[in-house]
This record gives sequence, C-alpha cells and structure tokens, in this order.
Amino acid sequence: MTAHIIYQCPACQTRQVSTPEPATGPVRCSHCDWSRNEGAGDFHDQVICRCRICGCDDLWRQKDFPPALGLAIVGIAASLSCVAWAWYRPVTALVILLMAAFFDMLLFTFMGDMLVCYRCASRHRRSAMNEEHPQFNLEISERYRQQAMQKERAAGR
Ligand SMILES: [Zn+2]
Ligand SMILES: [Zn+2]
Repeated sequence: MTAHIIYQCPACQTRQVSTPEPATGPVRCSHCDWSRNEGAGDFHDQVICRCRICGCDDLWRQKDFPPALGLAIVGIAASLSCVAWAWYRPVTALVILLMAAFFDMLLFTFMGDMLVCYRCASRHRRSAMNEEHPQFNLEISERYRQQAMQKERAAGR
C-alpha cells in the first residue's frame, strides 16, 4: 500500500496529494519546489509518529471513510425501500434498509484509518500506524488553535 498524504503546501498554499515511495521518502510539492525530507525521522518502528508535512508530534486517528459515501448509501437504500413500500412489499423494503446498514458497517470496518495533523490538518492515508494511536482530542486541538491564533496576532494580521 502506498502512503497517500493530502495537505496544503506550506510554501505555495495549493492543495497537494503526495505519495512518497517508499513511505519514508521525501514529500514534494508538485506546484512549487517545496519539499520535506525527514524520512525515517517521522517514523518510529515503521509507524508514523509525526506529521510528514510540518513535523508536528500530535496526530489523531480517524476512520478513512468519507461520511458523504455512507449518507449516499443510506439515501439510495431509503428511496429504493420507499419504492418497495409503494409496491406493497414491506419485507423487501425492510431487507433493503438492513442490507444498506450492513454494507455501511462493513465499509466502515474495512476502510483503514488515517492520521490527521492537529497543526496543519494534513491527512496521512494508507500509512503504517500504531493501532493504539489516540483518536481526536478536543483539548489538544484547542491548544493548537490558540497557538495558531497567537502566531497570526504576532504576525500583525
Ligand atoms: Zn507548493
Ligand atoms: Zn502537520
């Protein structure tokens, strides 16, 4: 599996998707010449331990599952189920809904996790990570938000 990093380039601010090969390889912007090559320094026992874009140590783990996809499946199932109701097929209607719920659950289980950076919001998809990696923490997030605000104030903006 190739690692997949979605981020905003710190230099030119464009949205970038990088697939470093190997996973510890340098991350490069395709738009300007920004690159970051900390390689193995970002990893600890082969798993990511800090953000590959800004080097921040705090990352949270999140299901790599687009919520829109889950909603779309439920939406389609709901309309199909209405059609079944209209045709006096209550059992079919119920089965359609149950299958959709089951399918959602399966997707949710088998889609991997991704790591998101608290500081720059880069998303590290399909990367080797620690299964014990903590999930989103509001306190840490708040700390980074404050820091970012202070920085902006200091910059006189
Ligand atoms: Zn760039
Ligand atoms: Zn970051």
